[in-house]
Amino acid sequence: MNILFMGPPGAGKGTQAERIVAEFGIPHISTGDAFRLAMKEGTPLGQKAKEYVDKGLLVPDEVTNGIVRDRISQDDCKNGFLLDGFPRTLAQAEALDAMLAEMGRQIDHVINLKVDRSFLLTRLTGRRICKECGTTYHIVFNPPKVPGVCDKDGGELYQRSDDTEEKVGTRLDEYTSKTAPLLDYYAGKGLLREVNGEKEIDAVTADIASLLRG
Ligand code: ADP
Ligand code: AMP
Repeated sequence: MNILFMGPPGAGKGTQAERIVAEFGIPHISTGDAFRLAMKEGTPLGQKAKEYVDKGLLVPDEVTNGIVRDRISQDDCKNGFLLDGFPRTLAQAEALDAMLAEMGRQIDHVINLKVDRSFLLTRLTGRRICKECGTTYHIVFNPPKVPGVCDKDGGELYQRSDDTEEKVGTRLDEYTSKTAPLLDYYAGKGLLREVNGEKEIDAVTADIASLLRG
């Protein structure tokens, strides 16, 4: 099963992806995670991505598309994958369709997590992530048992450098101008499914899982 998660920054894509891949046994592919890893390692890709990520802007399509092509060609994606945060532009969506067509594959489900913009700043500025395993928390809505410490492995929690009020504004504007139009693209293909992402985390997971089970 090949799944896309759409929705603005802070909609809950990463949180839901962690849970859905555990249930469906497919890999979670997040282009944002790939860029953060490359930035941490200081690779050429990371240095290029940093110019954009640090400003809250989208990384150019030609850089981003190559990462996805390499990743979905790997063996563990044979039975499906969950893409989170890609595609984010029409050119990325068209490139993805072309890559999948070459492989004789297609997208099966596009899940749009609908969350009003008024929720997103609080969600993003309160987000904390485990340095070791990448699990996502929220200081109010999904807090760890011990503040600053991951429940799963005791790793230290950190705040993303782009989860500040100033960068969130730019990121949401990028979403509105470049990514939101993709919803019509997938609706036109009959693939788009809307889920209310304003409910509690467990309720959203249940709604997504029931859509995917058909
Ligand atoms: P995205 O991957 O779409 O940017 P995340 O999954 O990282 O979003 O979620 C953003 C923040 O909001 C995180 O701190 C997460 O714990 C929190 N969050 C996610 N889903 C919900 C929800 N349904 N209700 C309240 N907070 C949520
Ligand atoms: P995310 O973790 O999905 O919030 O992404 C963090 C940042 O990585 C974004 O603000 C962009 O700078 C960059 N990024 C992630 N995915 C993409 C993509 N598909 N296209 C362009 N830039 C991306």
